[in-house]
Amino acid sequence: MPELLPKNDFHRKIIHLDMDAFYASIEMRDDPSLVNKALIIGHDPRKHNGHGVVATANYIARQYGVHSAMPTAKAMQLVPVDRVAFVKPNFNKYRAVSGQIHELMHELTDQVESVALDEAYLDVTKNKLGIDSAIELASHLQQKIYRETGLTSSFGVSYNKFLAKMASEYAKPFGRTVILADDALKFLAEQKIEQFPGIGKKTQKQLHDLGIYDGADLQKLPVRFLIGKFKKMGYAIALHAHGIDLNPVLSDRRRKSIGIERTFENNIHSQDQALTIIRKFSHELSQKLKNKKVSANVVVLKIRSNSFETITKRQKLDQPTNQALEIFLAGKELYSQVPNFLEDGIRLLGLTATNLESKNYEEVPLELFTDSNILS
Ligand SMILES: [Mg+2]
Repeated sequence: MPELLPKNDFHRKIIHLDMDAFYASIEMRDDPSLVNKALIIGHDPRKHNGHGVVATANYIARQYGVHSAMPTAKAMQLVPVDRVAFVKPNFNKYRAVSGQIHELMHELTDQVESVALDEAYLDVTKNKLGIDSAIELASHLQQKIYRETGLTSSFGVSYNKFLAKMASEYAKPFGRTVILADDALKFLAEQKIEQFPGIGKKTQKQLHDLGIYDGADLQKLPVRFLIGKFKKMGYAIALHAHGIDLNPVLSDRRRKSIGIERTFENNIHSQDQALTIIRKFSHELSQKLKNKKVSANVVVLKIRSNSFETITKRQKLDQPTNQALEIFLAGKELYSQVPNFLEDGIRLLGLTATNLESKNYEEVPLELFTDSNILS
């Protein structure tokens, strides 16, 4: 192992799952007349004064050179006019399918980190099915997604996130690529630098100017040289070239939180006023949670005094909720536990709902939620 690099960790089992041409595949599934078209998800430039960008293109369109983020007018020039089809994106539909796929992922593990609607990392080192082989788990997931949604996906399996992602991109569509610890350096040596994550166009050019074209070239470079030349990014490139990525899969449920905070123009000196604001935040949080169809397990209060003392305090709820009253009661309880800043003045208040889970708890009518009850 070259100098300056941390010890590698081979014990994890990470899957990167990526749906194939996700939006386009959904539209083709729902309208078979599109299957043989060069399908572009985006507004038809002929109907939008030449404006718009490609959200996704199916594989036929990609063969003509169309890709995501390309102006639709440009895409139009690449594809024969009798072959092209435009469908405007329907994100509500894509979100719903994504939710369905996420439920299938959560049958394996709750260690799911979403990168986009169509892409996620899963840490299956420990998993709910008690299956040791990550390859078996990934194949199982790929097949189940296909059976339940009619959509294909590609997966990569390895001992860290960046290798799992490189693996899933290695063979698409319907790809299944595994990079074992013993093969990682050889696999990386054979990859062009364009395949490495985080090496942008500008850096590619600089590396080419130095005669560096592939992973093997990177592996031969002293780490110090890469750091000297590219600073932090050079270090990241060195880590990747040597197959090292210690970043954990950050599960959506633990990571995600919804919070509101506000700094006041005039400091708050009254408890009624503070609680009124916490109550207002509770309503806003409740609405946001309901919109996302999630419930919170923990409420966090943040408070800052005029002299910049900041306290955050959290409370675990008896059961997950998206109800304004329950959030408020937790917030009020937390408020009673923090130091009294009223004399100094409260400069900032924040309320956050966290440890979210995607369940819909029944709405309980709560007529009691009135000023007089709350502020008494
Ligand atoms: Mg994809």
